[in-house]
Amino acid sequence: MREQLEKIKEEALKQIEASDALERLNDIRVAYLGKKGELTSVLKSMKDVSPEERPKVGQMVNEARALIEAKLEETKNVLARKAREEQMKREVIDVTLPAEKGNVGHSHPNTIALEEVERIFVGMGYEVVEGPEVEHDLYNFEKLNIPANHPAKDEQDTFYINKEIVLRTQTSPVQVRTMEQGKLPIRMIAPGRVFRSDEVDATHSPSFHQIEGLVIDKNITFADLKGTLAEFARELFGPETKVKFRPHHFPFTEPSAEVDVTCFKCGGKGCRFCKGSGWIEILGCGMVHPHVLEMSGIDPEEYSGFAFGVGLERIALLKYEIDDMRLLYENDIRFLKQF
Ligand SMILES: [Zn+2]
Repeated sequence: MREQLEKIKEEALKQIEASDALERLNDIRVAYLGKKGELTSVLKSMKDVSPEERPKVGQMVNEARALIEAKLEETKNVLARKAREEQMKREVIDVTLPAEKGNVGHSHPNTIALEEVERIFVGMGYEVVEGPEVEHDLYNFEKLNIPANHPAKDEQDTFYINKEIVLRTQTSPVQVRTMEQGKLPIRMIAPGRVFRSDEVDATHSPSFHQIEGLVIDKNITFADLKGTLAEFARELFGPETKVKFRPHHFPFTEPSAEVDVTCFKCGGKGCRFCKGSGWIEILGCGMVHPHVLEMSGIDPEEYSGFAFGVGLERIALLKYEIDDMRLLYENDIRFLKQF
């Protein structure tokens, strides 16, 4: 039995040494140490061994087992390390190869223009506030002094979800929501996407962006409005820029005005860009109508304010001299990369 054990041990160790793959090691483990393995069968034949000899043989079997297991483990580590080294050799990176170019995106002209406008107003102490694009008729129209029979509410201009819900036609409802919170004074701009049922052409789109501003405090006058917008125009179009206020009508402001700036191409002399007039229209504005304040719970005897609204696309088109609004939505990367 001693010889038999010795033979099994030697044979096992020889086979382990000759192994060149991890799977092969597992086969050897099963063949010698498994339930039906050779070493196990020796243990099973212990009944033929005399009682005095049994502890000795048992010890020998255990020693053989330990030796085989140790050799298996050792060889396994060696093989695993070899496999890893080979894999690393296969996967080696040639750092001298030309790098794959990362395709970095580019800010959309709308985004660049919006960040510029936000920078100007935040610099003057304004907050940037956002609100829902799907809005109650109440906030989009009624609370802005646009009653039920007003032409702006026509289905030809406005997308209705149902009788009470619309896609907002302006970002003014964000101002109403801010006023209703009752925290005064207010100095805010509300940029965002708005919707009108317009056909697509060079200057119209059913979806575009607006930036509306609102200031409410004690003793706010039209002079504050003029000063603020003149400063905005100078920051945006250059320090020589002049502004002109033309009387206009909006339901939510009284008095109301449209604002022109001197053409930044010709400086006001008149050119093809400004159609010879020297002026370019950029926004609408006015003093917040007392009734609008009242509807949002603000006392018009104590507080007053001004509001203005400017089309973001209009600014992007002017600033980057783009002559067709559709270019802003086609997202042709060759076009967008110019800005
Ligand atoms: Zn001009």
